[in-house]
Order: sequence, then C-alpha cells, then structure tokens
Amino acid sequence: MKKRKILIAGNWKMYKTPQETREFLEELKSKVSSITQINIAVCPPFTSLIVAKQILEGSNIKLGAQNVFYEEEGAFTGEISCKMLKDAGCEFVIIGHSERRKYFQEDDTLINKKIKAVLKHSMKPIFCIGETLQEREENKTFEVLNIQLEEGLRGISIEDMKNIVIAYEPVWAIGTGKTATSSQAQEAHRFIRDYISKKFSSSLSEEVIILYGGSIKPHNIKELVSQEDVDGGLVGGASLSIDSFVSIIQNSIL
Ligand code: PEP
Repeated sequence: MKKRKILIAGNWKMYKTPQETREFLEELKSKVSSITQINIAVCPPFTSLIVAKQILEGSNIKLGAQNVFYEEEGAFTGEISCKMLKDAGCEFVIIGHSERRKYFQEDDTLINKKIKAVLKHSMKPIFCIGETLQEREENKTFEVLNIQLEEGLRGISIEDMKNIVIAYEPVWAIGTGKTATSSQAQEAHRFIRDYISKKFSSSLSEEVIILYGGSIKPHNIKELVSQEDVDGGLVGGASLSIDSFVSIIQNSIL
C-alpha cells in the first residue's frame, strides 16, 4: 500500500487544438470514470483550457496549465496570469519544465517567482527539476538537484510546501525513449524527500508528492510507481494517445 495517493499528470506540450481536446477528453473521461484509487490530471495548452474545464467539470480528472507569468496583470504581451488560469479551472501549473529552461531561458530565480505566484493564487505548482546527461555523467546529479531545489524553493514556507508537487525529470530521459531505471528514479526521489525533510520538516516530507517524468510508457510505469518514493508520473508523449494514457493510468494502480 502506497503512503501517498498516486498522481498521473499528462503534459500535452504544444499539441492538440480545442476541438482535438474536446474529443480526447470526452473519451478519456468515460474510460477512467470509475477510477478513484489514484489522482489524474491533464495539462493542455492555454487555448484548450476553457474547453477542458467545461468537459471535466464534476469528473475525476483535474486540470493543469504548462506555464504562467508571475505578474498579476499588466503590459506583458503574450503572457498569461495566475488569475486567468485559476478562472480557467486550473488546479495545477507546471513550472520550470526543462523545455522552458532550455528554449525560453527560464532560470531558477524566475522559476521561484512563478512558484510563489501560483501558490498565492491557491493553485499547486508542479515544480520540475532534473539533471542533463552531461551532469549525470560527471556525477553532478545531486549537486544540480540541490541547487534547483534551493533556488526554486527559496522563501517558501512549510504551509506553502504542502501545496507543491515536485517532478523529477532527468533531462536525458525526456522525449528520448530513455527512461531512468527504477533504482535511479528511487535514488533521486529519496534525495529530494530527504532535502525536504531537512529544509522543512520530516513529517511534511512524507506528504509531498514527488513525480517521475521521462519517457513513461504503459510498460514501465508499474515498476516506477512501485518504488517507495515515486508517487506518480508526469507523462509527456504517452499522454497524447488515449490508449497509452489510459494504460498508464490503469497500470499505476498497485
Ligand atoms: C514531459 O514532458 O514532462 C515528459 C516527461 O515527456 P516524455 O514523457 O515525452 O518524456
């Protein structure tokens, strides 16, 4: 029996129009309607959030966004605020995904501001951290995770920490088909939980949800979530097809 309720969250990245979202979620909703053992979430692009909210209302599927800007409102052309996401039905917001760090130059300071803004608006950040292949090969994994945690969670209170989900996503495993072995995942997750225990509190560290992300597929999810400190998955590519996402959900029920 897992200590924490598993969460499977789909990160759709820049895929699916509002119409495609409608068709996908109608089907997903009917296929997973009886599942209560785990939490399920989808994070579509901004333009699909309203459609998703309408379809998912009253269902067992939660909604999240993939990014946000930290300012309340103002002259920030092209950006989306927390208030907008909250109104669009979001419970979660992915923050600091490695694709945003890589392609949009997001750094730990910016990520920290975004995490605080999301919390202020009573949503839950899914805070992504993870090392590159080079960093792993140079034995710097824990050093990198430590810096990302230290900077990303700077100024966060114990109360706030209760509402943060952490996603360990080794960059070398995202969209590459290379999954971390279950023991590599467990080792990193244990490191993260120990960090929370030291910086916040040991009882809180037992409550925090730590997701694994990186080429999750129907065939590898069971072994991953069987690890003591792996509380679910952030699923990219395999969350885009109904069959694979539903299988991942079903296979994560232990
Ligand atoms: C992700 O986008 O967070 C991710 C883990 O992608 P993938 O499952 O495609 O590796």
